[in-house]
Amino acid sequence: MKNELIISCENLTKHFTLGDGEVIALQGLDLTVQRGEMIGIVGVSGSGKSTLMNVLGGLIRPTSGQVRVNDHNLLTLSTRALDRYRREEVGFIWQQSARNLIPYLSALENVVYPMTLAGRRHKRERAEALLLQVGLGERMHHHIPTLSGGEQQRVAIAVALANEPSILLADEPTGELDTATALDVFALFDQLNEAGLTILIVSHDPTIARHVDRVVGIRDGRLAVEMRESADDTIEELTIMDAQGRIQIPADIRAALGLTDRVVLEQTDDGVLIRTTK
Ligand code: ADP
Ligand code: MG
Repeated sequence: MKNELIISCENLTKHFTLGDGEVIALQGLDLTVQRGEMIGIVGVSGSGKSTLMNVLGGLIRPTSGQVRVNDHNLLTLSTRALDRYRREEVGFIWQQSARNLIPYLSALENVVYPMTLAGRRHKRERAEALLLQVGLGERMHHHIPTLSGGEQQRVAIAVALANEPSILLADEPTGELDTATALDVFALFDQLNEAGLTILIVSHDPTIARHVDRVVGIRDGRLAVEMRESADDTIEELTIMDAQGRIQIPADIRAALGLTDRVVLEQTDDGVLIRTTK
């Protein structure tokens, strides 16, 4: 099943102008995701996780590079086509449930709304089925503020699924939930993924590795490491080398060893040694 590429980012960059200066949020990011994968994206605050999600979701355009989702080239799509892409191909879940939902509508009306925008039929039936699927059959007519945080995130998931997206993007979806409720949300993601949906979950918690197929780590706007649960249940961190052979050495290691802009590479019997110049 997992040998069909659904997302591919190559040398992706995103610059923001901020006053007189420029912020580089993504700098040469490469990422591929297979259809049906569930992956975690981790990284410290400011590393570019949300920017990546916003690019993949068609909310912002990258500055340069390549980004394809399901055969759509997000750099060259017209504004109109990008609007449609965002509405019909992507489901979004944000950390703050307020950003996902319209507070003065009921749960059911919230799920119907994106289908109205997309001009779909059988909206109400589908919305009811989705709310049942996320375990909110009894709460369909409740207004958003009367639901708990976990229930609100489940409505948000139903909203995200309304137009049958090909990818689900969740940006710290459990950041404001307690542990038990967060586990419920992960169980729901698991169920959707089992049914074939491709899911990307941003987290700042490396233990997300327990819930997903693989975890990639972003540092300074670039994919730097990949974490895998190894046979003995420990989490192994692999550094990513790109097609040109470039790897990123974390700033703390560079500082500790005094590595500057020129280093010596030495091939040894069991690997490559990176040394400071004498
Ligand atoms: P993360 O989600 O990993 O915390 P972000 O993608 O939100 O990181 O941000 C990456 C960098 O880009 C940060 O330095 C942030 O301040 C900057 N940034 C993000 N969005 C904007 C924006 N709209 N305007 C200016 N700078 C931004
Ligand atoms: Mg973020």
